[in-house]
Amino acid sequence: MPELTSFAWVLIIAALVVGILAGHYGWGRHWTRRGRRFPAEYLEGLDYLVNEQPDRALDRFLRVMDTSADSLETHFALGSLYRRRGETERAIRVHRNLLSRDLDPPNREQALLALAQDYLRAGLLDRAEGIFRQVSEGERFKGRALEALRGIYERQRDWMQALETHRALARLGIAPAGSVAAHYLCEIATYQLERGDVEEARRSLRAARRESTPFPRAAVLRAQIAERAGQMELAARLLAWALDANPVLVYDELAHLLRLVGESARPAVLRDLLAQAQQRDRGDVKAIVYAALALSPADAAPLREPIELAIARDPVLAAFREAAPQAPFEQITAQMRALLARSETYRCADCGFAARRFYWQCPGCQAWDGFETYVVLRLR
Ligand SMILES: [Zn+2]
Repeated sequence: MPELTSFAWVLIIAALVVGILAGHYGWGRHWTRRGRRFPAEYLEGLDYLVNEQPDRALDRFLRVMDTSADSLETHFALGSLYRRRGETERAIRVHRNLLSRDLDPPNREQALLALAQDYLRAGLLDRAEGIFRQVSEGERFKGRALEALRGIYERQRDWMQALETHRALARLGIAPAGSVAAHYLCEIATYQLERGDVEEARRSLRAARRESTPFPRAAVLRAQIAERAGQMELAARLLAWALDANPVLVYDELAHLLRLVGESARPAVLRDLLAQAQQRDRGDVKAIVYAALALSPADAAPLREPIELAIARDPVLAAFREAAPQAPFEQITAQMRALLARSETYRCADCGFAARRFYWQCPGCQAWDGFETYVVLRLR
């Protein structure tokens, strides 16, 4: 919602309160009669509002609205406006005022939902959680409350609860994609691996694959388990598969993959990756070349032949090379490496959040799987 000017804000509140008073006092039917007046509290409230004393204004309006049986919608509208403006304390006051009345169950549920949303907006997650849980036990706003709870558990990194909530949403037929549940299971598996609980982690990863297949993140974790058990070949196979299934991983995992295979096999592994990428997308080829160049010069040196070939085949990279045709390969790659060091590597497709490392969940907008490779060579 765009920022409201103070004047527009005054008008909105005044209009809301006038609306409710009009209903209550039957204005409109009586405009022609003399003697119909605004209640003193309303005028006083308006005065405070205009003089930028919003808390006093709210006091007066709540008092007026208390006397009116029809003020329910006004409460909800006013509370929601306050919340959207970030004035959460006032939104909370409005909704608590409402809950202090004798409401019928559907209205009570709506008021509780609104109050929980206020607490959430205010960052009071524990309070919000308690009320959303209460609301989720009813039928009317069950889905919305569960969805809000899922978001809270994600923010708290409480993956077990997030998973349970996802499953409750699935029973209602309104869960996000199964890949989200698979990510929760991978988060749980990561924690189990950190604790040294390999069998539990394997179980979680199997459950992740049941939620979503293929699921490259689970393969990356299974590669870690294989590596710990000394099964380097299996680890390399799993990781190579994950890189092929999700080329976005190449920056974070190429060095790891090359470490897993013997030194002599490295150029061949890179050639294979490049050949697979060539069939998919030029962007993927570039990403692999950049990831290879981002390795240390010593690690990149044996990979010169496949890197040089990929550069020659890509029009953009070839243009970079041709700008200095006499320069030795090492000089060109050193220049590219220096440019890459100043570049962001990933960007969220949903919100544009840019980062140098890869995130499964965007730190900006909390979307899953939104990160894509985004290398901008800043030529300066
Ligand atoms: Zn994002």
